[in-house]
Amino acid sequence: MYADIIVDITHEKLDKVFQYKILPELEGELQIGTEVIVPFGKGDKEIRGYVTGFSDKPDYDEGKMKPVLSIAKGSLAIESRMVALAAWMKEYYGGTMIQALKTVIPIKKQEKARKKRRIRLLLDEAAGKQQLEVFLHKNQRARARLLAALLDQPEQDYELLTKKLNVTGAVVRALKEKNIISLESETVFRNPIRHKSQDREAPEFTDEQRHAINIFREDYCKGVRKTYLVYGITGSGKTEVYMEMIAQVLEAGGQAIVLIPEIALTYQTVMRFYGRFGDRVSILNSRMSAGERFDQMERVKSGEVDVMIGPRSALFTPFPRLGLIVIDEEHEAAYKSEQTPRYHARETAIERAKREGASVVLGSATPSLEAFYACKCGRFQLLELKKRAGEGELPEVYVEDMRKELRAGNRSILSDHLKNLIDARLLRHEQIMLFLNRRGYAGFVSCRSCGYVVKCPHCDVSLAAHKGGKMLCHYCGHEEPQLHVCPSCGSGYIGGFKAGTQQIEEMVKRQFPSARVLRMDMDTTRTKDGHEKILEAFSSEEADILIGTQMIVKGHDFPNVTLVGILAADMSLYSSDYRAAERTFQLLTQAAGRAGRGRSKGEVVIQTYSPEHYSIEMAAAQDYEGFYAAEMEYRGLMGYPPVEQLLAVLMTGPDEKLLETAAKYLKDFANRVDKRGILQLIGPASPYVAKVSDVYRRVLYLKGPDYGLLVEVKNRMEKYIEINKGFQTMRIQFDFNPMNVF
Ligand code: ADP
Ligand code: ZN
Ligand code: ZN
Repeated sequence: MYADIIVDITHEKLDKVFQYKILPELEGELQIGTEVIVPFGKGDKEIRGYVTGFSDKPDYDEGKMKPVLSIAKGSLAIESRMVALAAWMKEYYGGTMIQALKTVIPIKKQEKARKKRRIRLLLDEAAGKQQLEVFLHKNQRARARLLAALLDQPEQDYELLTKKLNVTGAVVRALKEKNIISLESETVFRNPIRHKSQDREAPEFTDEQRHAINIFREDYCKGVRKTYLVYGITGSGKTEVYMEMIAQVLEAGGQAIVLIPEIALTYQTVMRFYGRFGDRVSILNSRMSAGERFDQMERVKSGEVDVMIGPRSALFTPFPRLGLIVIDEEHEAAYKSEQTPRYHARETAIERAKREGASVVLGSATPSLEAFYACKCGRFQLLELKKRAGEGELPEVYVEDMRKELRAGNRSILSDHLKNLIDARLLRHEQIMLFLNRRGYAGFVSCRSCGYVVKCPHCDVSLAAHKGGKMLCHYCGHEEPQLHVCPSCGSGYIGGFKAGTQQIEEMVKRQFPSARVLRMDMDTTRTKDGHEKILEAFSSEEADILIGTQMIVKGHDFPNVTLVGILAADMSLYSSDYRAAERTFQLLTQAAGRAGRGRSKGEVVIQTYSPEHYSIEMAAAQDYEGFYAAEMEYRGLMGYPPVEQLLAVLMTGPDEKLLETAAKYLKDFANRVDKRGILQLIGPASPYVAKVSDVYRRVLYLKGPDYGLLVEVKNRMEKYIEINKGFQTMRIQFDFNPMNVF
């Protein structure tokens, strides 16, 4: 037997594993993740490394191969566990061990941790003013400018202040030497948010909240570890429940990770956790550089932190005493990585928790079908919160059929009903949110007059308009010429839906000239904190109407919002994607949940061309279980997840012909591996974007009842790809149960 060993896992050049011999005395002692001592380099220096895999064939001359010397004493168990988790991810999702390790272990970059410097005034006001007189008298203007600014505000950021005042480093040094100011540096992100004191206490829990907390507490005390799904409508107090569960875990000496989608990771949310747990909390976010993330992980290792909050990657926080992983908004697509290994944070959290004796708590108002299905099968435990905890009742929801509006001569983006409701709100000085559903838009073709959508005859997903007057199915490759007349009603209003937030903003300003309007989309939030600023402005009622894409659906509570308008509700329905209905239902439900969080009852208007679609009907009725039943029927019928398992093989390359041939070879190979013919092989098809900057794309789908079988086929394909030169110019990635269309 031979062991693959990776040395120095935190090094930037983590790109090579070395093969070592396993001598008889160590046989059976080593596992993936075990920390070992190996001889390395010319002088056979003894260093530490981790076992990342085993093989029974030597990669090179066995005579020259060095042996593993021993198992390292006093090894850091947490790193071994993370290496083992990486090995699981490589197997479960595909890719190389190096890719998996890079996902799981923060890499030390050569860059220095960025220091943020602050200037602090050491003089009191009187002495400062006196000194200012001196500078002015001597005509030392730069010094005077700096001092005057500090008299205004005695502690300021070095970079900002010197730039603003246009003073040089020499001026700052001069004042420092005279003991007028001091320079202080702090490592940025060392305390990502300046912690407030712990000033928040748990509320008086509702019966439902207490029930959920008690079940968790009893299990946890008994040593029972499992996965729970907190299924609770928006505002039912899920976050309070998580915090109480975390408090229990901390009390028992454990540590906790809280995953929150980046978009919902707002200041408001983070401060709730700081308020409750003080500086034992830290956060990660995607704006941090690799070096900053590394620093955070060092803080964790030194034991300064017990609760880590962050997006997907915070899952790999190296807590040695992990007791709980919370995943809020567990249905969010952002929990699936778009890089190899394309892991899902939910599944990976469950695996990590299993290995480390921790529990997992998932939460959502609109659970993923996967999670709810797992509850029905008894794999997860369901904890329900059906009532709102704080103020506010559930809103009244109206569905407006935009086909009727068109027939009645209203060609505007707003239905008459929505217009009237907006007018009434403006009179009463209540706020309005207009949500444009653009998610998953992939060029679907629909009729504005009757709502008809062109679908693939084989796959029951919508066809997408492509250049050159074609419509294509992204699952099977079915192709038809573009339509110009609706086959259902004969009207010429068939085509793609074109309206952006900017157009809506202009139209709203024209129709309601007295209203103050804010717009939030990719354009207006490009700057750092842009997102936060707009929400703050709306929150402090500096505007009457907020227009935005899915960004406005998450995070903040706006108690004065009593009307939510959802424009183009069906937009996400016809993206050519088997999760389209689920995504639509989730978006509509979440958007509707924004209305009536305060004292007055809210109203929601859903505008749609397909009011009879179950995802829209059920969202309007706020009936998750009804939606779940209908959607599961569809998934079962079509063999889509979670009923069956789906593996997408994503292939890209510069030569279209070669790619097409390779895809066919790979399909034939998969067919041969699947001797018993259990799998269904679909494609190769052109994805929606069949070519990106001269790189062609193809996708092959494998569908079957058993995840294990798909993993087996994936493993065989990886070997086949590795040994066949024909694949060398291509990139081939595996995506299990994909969240998005390729
Ligand atoms: P969710 O995470 O389910 O949307 P939150 O935990 O954010 O719900 O709670 C919604 C609002 O209700 C928050 O303002 C919260 O402080 C408040 N809240 C939660 N639980 C209670 C409770 N038991 N009593 C009073 N207010 C509560
Ligand atoms: Zn098809
Ligand atoms: Zn029509």
